[in-house]
Amino acid sequence: MKAIRTFTVRPVLAESLAPLDALAANFRWSWSRTPRDLFASMDPALWSQVGENPVRMLGAIGQKRLDELAADAAFVERVNAEAESLRGYLTGDRWFQQLEGDKPAHIAYFSPEFGVDGSLPQYSGGLGILAGDHLKSASDLGVPLTGVGLFYRSGYFRQSIGDDGWQRESYPLLDPYGLGLTLLRDEDGAPVEISLDLPGDRRLSARIWIADIGRVPLLLLDAETPSNTDEMRRVTDRLYGGGGEHRLLQELLLGVGGVRAVRAFAALTGRPTPDVYHTNEGHAGFQGLERMAGFMTDSGLSFDEALAQVRASTVFTTHTPVPAGIDRFPRDLIEAYLASNLFSGIDPVRALALGLEDYPGGDPGVFNMAVLGLHLGQHANGVSRLHGKVSRGMFGQLWPGVDTDEVPIGSITNGVHAPTWVHAKLKGLSEERFGDSHVATHDWTDRGVVSDAELWGVRQAMKADLVAEARRRVAASLGDTITPAWVDDLLDTNVLTIGFARRVPTYKRLTLMLRDPQRLTRLLTDPERPVQIVIGGKSHPADDSGKILIQQLVRFSRDPKVRGRIVFLPDYDITLAKTLYPGCDVWLNNPLRPLEACGTSGMKAALNGALNLSILDGWWDEWFDGRNGWAIPTADTASNDEERDDAEAAALYDLIEHQLVPAFYEREGGIPTTWLGMVRHTMTDLGSKATSDRMVRDYVQTMYVPAAAHDAALRTDDFAEARALAAFIQRVRTSWPKVRVANVDSSGIPQQAQAGDVLEIQASVALDGLSPDDVAVEVVYGPVDGDDDLGDNRRTARLQPTGPAGADGLTLFTGSRTLTATGSFGYTVRVVPAHPQLVSDVELGLIAFAS
Ligand SMILES: *Cc1c(COP(=O)(O)O)cnc(C)c1O
Repeated sequence: MKAIRTFTVRPVLAESLAPLDALAANFRWSWSRTPRDLFASMDPALWSQVGENPVRMLGAIGQKRLDELAADAAFVERVNAEAESLRGYLTGDRWFQQLEGDKPAHIAYFSPEFGVDGSLPQYSGGLGILAGDHLKSASDLGVPLTGVGLFYRSGYFRQSIGDDGWQRESYPLLDPYGLGLTLLRDEDGAPVEISLDLPGDRRLSARIWIADIGRVPLLLLDAETPSNTDEMRRVTDRLYGGGGEHRLLQELLLGVGGVRAVRAFAALTGRPTPDVYHTNEGHAGFQGLERMAGFMTDSGLSFDEALAQVRASTVFTTHTPVPAGIDRFPRDLIEAYLASNLFSGIDPVRALALGLEDYPGGDPGVFNMAVLGLHLGQHANGVSRLHGKVSRGMFGQLWPGVDTDEVPIGSITNGVHAPTWVHAKLKGLSEERFGDSHVATHDWTDRGVVSDAELWGVRQAMKADLVAEARRRVAASLGDTITPAWVDDLLDTNVLTIGFARRVPTYKRLTLMLRDPQRLTRLLTDPERPVQIVIGGKSHPADDSGKILIQQLVRFSRDPKVRGRIVFLPDYDITLAKTLYPGCDVWLNNPLRPLEACGTSGMKAALNGALNLSILDGWWDEWFDGRNGWAIPTADTASNDEERDDAEAAALYDLIEHQLVPAFYEREGGIPTTWLGMVRHTMTDLGSKATSDRMVRDYVQTMYVPAAAHDAALRTDDFAEARALAAFIQRVRTSWPKVRVANVDSSGIPQQAQAGDVLEIQASVALDGLSPDDVAVEVVYGPVDGDDDLGDNRRTARLQPTGPAGADGLTLFTGSRTLTATGSFGYTVRVVPAHPQLVSDVELGLIAFAS
């Protein structure tokens, strides 16, 4: 008989052990070795049974063992030392506290999913795990940030694979108390509840769970509350479970409810009200409309003034160029909600326009959450350099007339939280040799500090862990039958091991390696120098095409000829990932370029000393340097997808056969020294770049600090600057059709220009009543190609107003540039609006060129 609900009854802790509660209640244990060791030492066998989870450990351990431990002076001393260490971590000054200058007071960070630990399954893949790593690094760096998300009663889904190779999904219900969460309560101890009034006299309420991620609180809104109807309770049933209105209600709860929740939380805990709002992907876009409604109702701002204020303080990060990754809703559905009391005071027509795909190539019947995000966020970025570029092309229609490379979407390359993702054995070696476990910040290239034998020993031990885990999982997946003998021979620690695991959207090409099954079989079964492959991946439950790919792989891997050398491990999640990445020699990634926005699994593998073998996409396009792995060439000239896949698969096999295999099996005294040289370089070089510490520092310095400054500037004196900025935008929009560069006087250019000559520029500009201070008149200059196009190396310099030009109400702007570069050179003159609170010249999409 199966229980339909489960919960945990916990024993009472003796006073000497009381700090264990606080240690278990803060997720810092999930990335910090010593508290883990402490809990494990209470009962090592039980620790692995409870999935290495302290909260479950305390629930499962039993009074008798606890009494023994309470009487064990050495254990009690360790408990106190850990409690002291946690207190120090939570209260001491860190990187952010030492930053000079004006800083954000409180950043609210919104995401539809958060991957913090395997025990808190509130994520589906990369987006969520990135959000979890963001919180952890914010904590380590002392950044005052609060995460805002939803609590899904069944999380994403658990995957198993049937005898037919088909993915099965299950949705176990989660008990928030058993996960280490606490309910946000008001001064009287009652659960805080936020509510949204929906059209049709419906009301959606939510309670707020808090997960403590080190210093950073993560608020998770949960619609499972007695105030809700059954229909409303189902809003937070599953992550990415439904579409249409169900998804919309989730996003309204996240965006609108999230703002209300984080403000209630701030007020109750004495934190400042957030001054920066960061939305990780577009799902939380309604946060901006909720805040606009507040400014309009409470402070009497107009729509445009409220928009300016919200834009100033909003950071929007786009995460995918794949349309299926962006939420799009039918226009009518959104209209009904915008016209309701939910956003009281907001003009529904104008609000709708902020998200409509009302541009060439878009569908004006569709409300697009990324478009909303870009309209509401003055500070926008993609997640790798290449993805920034792709995003500027993809969203460029929102800034008509603006050159693609000037579209105001920057990039911050993702990173991963090293303390979470580096294997305990490698951390151990780091502690022994470098004095601490900060693997990612050390120079691993010196053989005098860590010898080849030691490094190889740890790499092999991590691989042995993976082999054991793979056998265990495969045995478990076969059910209660006696484990067949081949499972004991599954994988081999001495064989070159390639890992490949990810979600299974088509563009990730799970089955590219199956393109030529005979060739793959030869590589796997080579008698002298074989290769083995470990695979994982979940397909979205509604995506049958992904499930077919999984089935093809599973079927291939079950062939007795190869099954010892290729294995599909079900239920790819954080727990599996933490054994998988460190256990591989090589991490494979073969997306269709440029659809992988960044990719982070390869970074996690690299920090553990795995080499990457990847298409030059996302982060790899940026950081591949020829010594940290291999680039699979892209067949950009292929005439169709089939041809492209064939060519890229062939290149993949070639690389494995002719480069990876020889390098891996070349040994000196049993050790692959050349290979280890690449490992050392990878760990050292990528260690300094690929961490979420670097990423969060970048966000603070290039996004949060400017956003907070803009927010403060616009807010002062009863929103004087917000009003001024809105009036300015109104003024330039009205005048712009008549603003033009009437004439550029080129008499200053010598016919035979030489380097060192000075170019004098005089432009007369029609301003249609705008003041010369309202605009920037710029000369854009540099080398030109055969079509007179100014390329990427062009520069921009501002001309100065020097008075009226002639009698037609024109204004003269002048300046000079010294010619330095030789060759074909060109320039043009343009006018753009200028205001100190704009982050980019072309932000308003207004631009007038000389003709
Ligand atoms: C890191 C991670 C991902 C994301 O990996 P990509 O390289 O971005 O595909 C997905 N799932 C899990 C469990 C991860 O740890």
